[in-house]
Amino acid sequence: MKKFRAFTATAALLCLTCLTVTTASADGEVNVYSYRETKLIQPLFDAFTRDTGIKVNVVSASSGLEQRMKAEGANSPADVLLTVDIGRIDEAVQAGVTQPVISEVLETIIPPQYRDPNGHWAGISMRARVIYASKERVKQDAITYEELADPKWKGKICIRSGQHIYNNALFAAYVAHHGEAVAEEWLKGLKANLAQKPSGGDRETARDVAAGKCDIGIGNTYYWALMNDKEADKKPWAEATKVILPTFEGGGTHVNLSGVLLAKHAPNKANGVKLINWLAGPTAQQMYADSNYEYPVRAGVAANPTIAGYGRLNADPMPIAKIAANRKAASTLVDKVGFDN
Ligand code: FE
Repeated sequence: MKKFRAFTATAALLCLTCLTVTTASADGEVNVYSYRETKLIQPLFDAFTRDTGIKVNVVSASSGLEQRMKAEGANSPADVLLTVDIGRIDEAVQAGVTQPVISEVLETIIPPQYRDPNGHWAGISMRARVIYASKERVKQDAITYEELADPKWKGKICIRSGQHIYNNALFAAYVAHHGEAVAEEWLKGLKANLAQKPSGGDRETARDVAAGKCDIGIGNTYYWALMNDKEADKKPWAEATKVILPTFEGGGTHVNLSGVLLAKHAPNKANGVKLINWLAGPTAQQMYADSNYEYPVRAGVAANPTIAGYGRLNADPMPIAKIAANRKAASTLVDKVGFDN
């Protein structure tokens, strides 16, 4: 029953925008299915239309877009799918609703570790999974992911669910670096250091550090910046914490992607590829940096000053495709060690 209700709610939400899309197949248009928040992404589409004259029709939803594309089959109006996190990117590819993008622009601009070797997805912006540390109680300014399992942090770490896609990717990166057996021991150590059962989101993790429930929390780079710059009610949580960019031993800071994919049956394929290339261009990349607090994937585009204030990002060179390949193993380990119990 619960499942059914969730499904109808999703279907209803999706259909709010059905009308606008079914009319969109003429030249000069591109249809985007998007998991990204409209307010973040609409300014980009407006700028694209100003630059190219191509109208952008958007269907936004928080879930179910791959299923919708699958159900629509060859009649799907979708040209481009926009999503965040390698977990969701990978799910779309696994669902079989995408096709490879052949684009010299992407190959030139986007570093190979942020692209699918088979061309089905490309990262367009990055976020790092970092430490929110208590300014008062944490003196050190550098940390490794490995160190999070050190007993010196016993009872001092807060984190959201180990099965959340953000942590799943971080743990999958750990597996990719060290192998499953070492990752399992690390997860046990990290679990033993938790101050409380994994809960909430990354903002709540900062809240709990600020409240003294834990000394360090794990969160994404943009949440801290949003709390600090844009969310007055949460600014105290940012003010009580400092961001430390952790690194893997012998590696760098774990980053995840927001990505673009070309729909398998894209009716406006040429415009879809144009949009994808445009999103990797200097205008869009600067917008991702300035208003979305994400790291641009394009070299030479400056990060937002708040994000730059964390220090120089030394992104882990591990290919994101290798992280995707270890997602399942990471999820199994989380269950095996009872991480969320
Ligand atoms: Fe997020």
